Parts: sequence; C-alpha cells; structure tokens
Amino acid sequence: MSKPFEKVALLGLGLIGSSIAHAIRAYGGARSISGHAKSAETLKVAAELKLADTFHADPAEAVKGADLIILCVPVGACGPLAAAISPAVGAGAIITDVGSVKGAIVRDVGPHVPSHAHFIPGHPIAGTEQSGPRAGFAELFQNRWCILTPVAGTPQERITALEDFWKGFGSRVEVMGAEHHDLVLAMTSHLPHLIAYNSVATAADLEEVTQSEVIKFSAGGFRDLTRIASSDPTMWRDVFLNNKDAVLEMLGRFTEELAVLQRAIRWGDGETLFNLFSRAREIRRGIIAAGQDTAAPNFGRDPRKG
Ligand code: NAP
Repeated sequence: MSKPFEKVALLGLGLIGSSIAHAIRAYGGARSISGHAKSAETLKVAAELKLADTFHADPAEAVKGADLIILCVPVGACGPLAAAISPAVGAGAIITDVGSVKGAIVRDVGPHVPSHAHFIPGHPIAGTEQSGPRAGFAELFQNRWCILTPVAGTPQERITALEDFWKGFGSRVEVMGAEHHDLVLAMTSHLPHLIAYNSVATAADLEEVTQSEVIKFSAGGFRDLTRIASSDPTMWRDVFLNNKDAVLEMLGRFTEELAVLQRAIRWGDGETLFNLFSRAREIRRGIIAAGQDTAAPNFGRDPRKG
C-alpha cells in the first residue's frame, strides 16, 4: 500500500465529493482535507458536517500545498475550474477527477495541468440519484469499480498511489483509455439514463392516462425508471453534451434492437421476444454473480412497503 496523501483538495462537495470526505475520515487515505464548492450555502453545510479541515471560496486557495487534487464538479465545470487552480498547483501533485465522461476531461482539463504535476483522470462507478453535500456516505465506493485513465507518460508509481487511495475505500480499480471508458459507460450508464428520462417524459405527456394513475400503478416497473430519472439535471446535461459520439453510437444500436422488438410484437413473433428476454435475464444473473447487485427479489425492498 502507498503511504497516505498529505493533503487532499476536494473541489466540489456534492454527493461524490462529500462521500470521498466521509471515506477518508472512515478509512484513511489523506492526513488533511481542504474543501471548495461554488456556493456559500454548500460551503456552510459542508463546514457543519465537518467534511474538510479547511474551507475555501477560492479554489486556488484550496489546492495550495495539496498533493492530491480531486475535481468533483459537473463535467462541464472541470475545464474552467482547472484553469482557475492551475497557477496554484504544487510540484508533483496529482490532479484527478470523478467525472462520468473522460475524453472531454482530457480535452478540457489537460491543457491547464502544469508540467510539474501529474494528470490521472478517474471515474468511480458508484452513485445514487441524490446530490448535494448532505447526500454523501463513506460506504458509497465499497465493492464498486473505479476507472482510471492516466495520460501517457504518467509515472506508474503515481498511478499506483491513486489506485491505492481508491482501494482503501473498498473499490476495485481498472485502468483503461479515455475513449474506451466513454464507449463502455455510454452503454452501461448514459443510455439507461436517457431511456429513463425519456420514459418518464413520455408518461408525463400521456393524455389518456392520468398523472395520478401513473403514480398509483408505478410499481409495475415505472417506479424504478423514475428513480434513475430523478438524478441531477446539470450533471446529466453535461454527460450528454460531452459524450456525444459514444452515446449516439449506442443509441443507434439501441434503436435497431427496438425496431426488431417492435416488429416481433406486430407480427406475433413470440420466439424472437422469448429469446431476447432470455438473453437479457442472463446478463442480470451475471451482474448478481459479479456482486454488483443483490439477488433479493425487487432489489431487496421490503414487500410490505412495495
Ligand atoms: P452534486 O452532488 O450535484 O455536486 C456538485 C458539486 O459541484 C457541488 O458541490 C457544487 O457546488 C459544485 N460545483 C458545481 N459547479 C461548480 C463550479 N462551476 N465550480 C465549482 N464548483 C462547482 O454532483 P455529484 O453527483 O457529486 O457529481 C460530481 C461529479 O461526479 C460529476 O462530474 C459527475 O459526472 C460525477 N459522478 C457522479 C455520480 C453520481 O451518481 N451522482 C457517479 C459517478 C460520478 P454548489 O453546491 O455550491 O453548487
């Protein structure tokens, strides 16, 4: 295990930033934490929750003396934030992030990373539909993957130090290229969110079915989509603006598969439907076998509460 970082600067104290703060307090990884958020309100709440040792309205002040700097803000905010901190980044510091898209981070943050620092973009595949400084908890990253996409020339010892930081929170770490990350996540995360947002929007526009019926009978599957669709709009706007090519690629494939289903339903082709649903069920079993979700019925919800 690498030795803990001396000072971690958390820029952004929402769900992910505050969860990192709690995880450091619970499991170690850094001797001290400095925190920055955009609004005075978030800084005030973060101070109440003792998410950091020092709090700064100016991000450049927060990164002074930090050997690990983590951008925990929406993807679209990372470039300007990196420009703002650039002159204050110390020699040998690691700059990383937690953004859900990686190619755009390399493009927007990369030019502002001083030559005396190291740039290792990252993405913990862990989250909830909650946001803000009160949403975080120390266990968020346990048994979840964290993907790192280091830029060429980064010393292995620095990559290992960041890997160990995440492993300390119970994460498993994988290193891959930024472009590959964006393609994989377009399928596993971005497309499902788009489908959820669109399904909820479709239901909201229905005239023959009342809003109260949609809410009343939502346990038939719709409820789970509404949970995903309640995720932070700023974060998700930035994901789709910044992972355009990969999402459009996956959306194209999805639309083709949807047309196959549509045709099978129209022509009463039960075999096609059955085979596709059986394949899907196998994927779900694989996710459970890999420990990425519970095998309990209905995601382990209390059946009395539905
Ligand atoms: P969040 O709860 O909405 O928190 C965002 C934080 O960023 C807030 O502290 C906010 O400050 C700050 N912020 C926003 N714009 C800023 C700016 N221009 N300059 C400085 N600070 C700014 O969001 P989150 O869920 O933690 O997401 C943060 C990042 O993690 C995103 O890039 C997202 O893609 C990624 N991520 C999210 C999840 C998830 O499930 N939520 C999972 C993995 C990765 P104020 O509160 O003061 O506005």
